[in-house]
Amino acid sequence: TPFSKLGLNDRIAYAVAQKGYVEPTPIQAQAIPHVLAGRDVTGSAQTGTGKTAAFALPILQRLGSHGRLRCLVLEPTRELALQVEEAFKEYSEYTDLDVTIVYGGVGYGKQRDDLQRGVDILAATPGRLLDHMEQGTVNLNSIEILVLDEVDRMLDMGFLPDVKRIVQKCPNARQTLFFTATLPPEIAQLASWALNDPVEVKI
Ligand code: AMP
Repeated sequence: TPFSKLGLNDRIAYAVAQKGYVEPTPIQAQAIPHVLAGRDVTGSAQTGTGKTAAFALPILQRLGSHGRLRCLVLEPTRELALQVEEAFKEYSEYTDLDVTIVYGGVGYGKQRDDLQRGVDILAATPGRLLDHMEQGTVNLNSIEILVLDEVDRMLDMGFLPDVKRIVQKCPNARQTLFFTATLPPEIAQLASWALNDPVEVKI
């Protein structure tokens, strides 16, 4: 399939076919090979471009099989975090990888149980993630892939200080993927601090 040609394996390509996707979108075609190769990537794509699959598909392939918490995806809102969690669940159907989510405004109990179960991928909003870190219900020592999504919205919502604290808790030796629709100075600064020799993907 056109997705296999980007380097995706059968288990991932099959899940994509089940979704009814025929061709990769431009951001998927550009980003997937670089993410598979382990490169840091900055993307200027907006929601609706297929951005989620552009990072989720190659991340699932890189993680391979169930282990410990290795991928963190930060989102500015609960709705976006839920969409990302759902996408990871669908695309990981033919793997044994586990995903869960934490966001604010609800109780801690279920989130704590889900984290304790041992997941590979965590979708989170920054404030609630920091709460869990302070309570010791999650730690980021084993993160290998960090996704900072919708960074321009994180800035608008005043989350950049929280995002920086979270990035600092992730290992330096990691792969970082960074998506923003605009690049004001604060975001350019954050990108140059958080990313290592990134490939720039523009669509
Ligand atoms: P996103 O930009 O990640 O929010 O995705 C927007 C919508 O496009 C979602 O409903 C996806 O399921 C869908 N989508 C993602 N990639 C493809 C593709 N290659 N072909 C068709 N639909 C897609």
